[in-house]
Amino acid sequence: MDKYREKLLELHTRLDPKNIKHQNRYNALDCWMTEADTAELVQSAINKANAYLLKAIADEDKRAQSDLTLCRGVFYQSASDDVSAERDYNSALNLATEINNIKLIADSLSTRASLAALKGDLAQALEDLQVAQSYYELANIDYWAYYNLAEIGNTYRRMGDFERALSLMDEVEQYYEIRGDIQAVNDIRYIRALIMDDLGNHALAQELYTSLLDDAYKNDDEILISSMLVTMADSLLQADKTSEARSRLNEAEPMLDPQFDPNNWSLWHLFSAKADFTDGNYESALAHIKSAEPHVSSQDNYRYLAWIQSIKAKTLAALGDWQQAYKANVAYNNTQELLANKLREQNTTRMRIEFDAARKEAENKTLKAEQSVQKAQLQSLEERKRWQALVIGLSLILLTLILIWAYRQFKRARLMHKMAMTDELTRLPNRRSIQAKALQAMNAAREAQTPMSLLVFDVDYFKRINDTWGHEVGDRVLQKISTAAQLVMRKNDSVGRTGGEEFMVVLPDSTLDSATEVAQRLCDCVAAIDMQEIDDNLVVTISLGVAQLTDVDTTVSMLTQRADNALYRAKDAGRNRVEVER
Ligand code: GH3
Ligand code: MG
Ligand code: MG
Repeated sequence: MDKYREKLLELHTRLDPKNIKHQNRYNALDCWMTEADTAELVQSAINKANAYLLKAIADEDKRAQSDLTLCRGVFYQSASDDVSAERDYNSALNLATEINNIKLIADSLSTRASLAALKGDLAQALEDLQVAQSYYELANIDYWAYYNLAEIGNTYRRMGDFERALSLMDEVEQYYEIRGDIQAVNDIRYIRALIMDDLGNHALAQELYTSLLDDAYKNDDEILISSMLVTMADSLLQADKTSEARSRLNEAEPMLDPQFDPNNWSLWHLFSAKADFTDGNYESALAHIKSAEPHVSSQDNYRYLAWIQSIKAKTLAALGDWQQAYKANVAYNNTQELLANKLREQNTTRMRIEFDAARKEAENKTLKAEQSVQKAQLQSLEERKRWQALVIGLSLILLTLILIWAYRQFKRARLMHKMAMTDELTRLPNRRSIQAKALQAMNAAREAQTPMSLLVFDVDYFKRINDTWGHEVGDRVLQKISTAAQLVMRKNDSVGRTGGEEFMVVLPDSTLDSATEVAQRLCDCVAAIDMQEIDDNLVVTISLGVAQLTDVDTTVSMLTQRADNALYRAKDAGRNRVEVER
């Protein structure tokens, strides 16, 4: 970090003071490099970001505004002001979208996702991360693509899909190892340790934590040391090693700062309460709970909240305060209900995202992941069941079980349907599916008397690409084109893969002119895709044909035929162009 800061200073002396854009760019860099290890430093970082931001606004420099707003948001998040952080992430995203800056759009999404994940809103997080991923990959921003991929892995971990999380972590760790980025490798190992804990392999987790803790001590990084110790205590408690957990907690205590890191501080109290409860020190457990509760409740982090409420109920029951215990348990059940709802939401969103995502994954993997989510779901249900049996009775559980069973049946049916309609390589609708969409759009257009157009395109000289670089490169080219096509299309347009390197786009509510515009945009966008990561000499283009629905087109294939005619003309005329069938 110091090395970078020196470089930054050096850069500053070379900057032209009259070049406003460069000055603002420097300010943004300086913002990101600002040290913020204590509460005071965070506050002054926010002040600095504010001052820079005011200047960028005065200069009407939108790029810098977006970058600085995002930077300020991160400091707000460090200050545990999640509301301000989220507001900043959203406005950074809006600004970046306005100026169409791919890197900043992806950065804003990825940052917003990490906050959402922290708050337990995993569906939102995964959605943002997947979109960010496709932007990073499209723009070939390797470093951040891998960083983002690690965040996706971590989100899968939180969703209970440990297998997929581990495989992504492997991919990312390998990349960091090749780069020799030890700090980043350690970050990944930390997540790996958390996964080991999740899988119940606490011994392996402890091994990893211990080596990470050694490194943190070597670097004299107190924040990292104390949070590592608190995490280790959690792991040890899960392994029923209460006294070892206690010694980790004792070691962490002098380093805690409720002002600067209230999260870690309240977790410390939560785990201390757990340890005390296990040892039968109920009064002391209750005191710890009371310390942790206000912060955790204010964070709408349902996971931690559920933990606290559960242990509170048990402690109060052990102390014989039945009335309060009952109240705590009702609160716990409510939180569990909220969590279960969130889990349901997450699964739905996740199904949607997975099939929309451009990343290629095997079908059976999806099914396996699906099963492990269901297992996690069942586990949380099990725990809930025990409590409800105690306090409320069996009827509610039965009802819940039936509901979840019915929901799962519904979901499975949808999954099967999706698979039959999705192209394996590109995750786009397949031929059958896109033709069905075309028919639907045709009928709707006839009924509402609105225009409708169809676009077909075919990759130019694709055989040559396969012959020169191999089939696998050909496949990746097809994936990149699919991603680009989806990004270029408007909300109601649908893209599908009709054959090898042939695609179709259905454009409802589109005249020939507007469809031609879309086609030209797509043609330019594909020609501009950066294929450098595959080969410097690889340039890919497509040829497109457009036709608008007329009274002569009684079937989808007649309309398709007319668009195909235009496509052949585009090929004949030299390719990489749009032709229109009038
Ligand atoms: P033109 O510009 O005239 O369209 O030339 P072309 O080489 O693209 O046309 P042609 O139809 O002769 O070649 C298409 C090639 O696409 C042939 C086939 O091997 C290849 N192909 C079809 N499906 C796939 C696939 O899923 N992956 C890969 N890598 N190649 C495929
Ligand atoms: Mg072809
Ligand atoms: Mg072709």
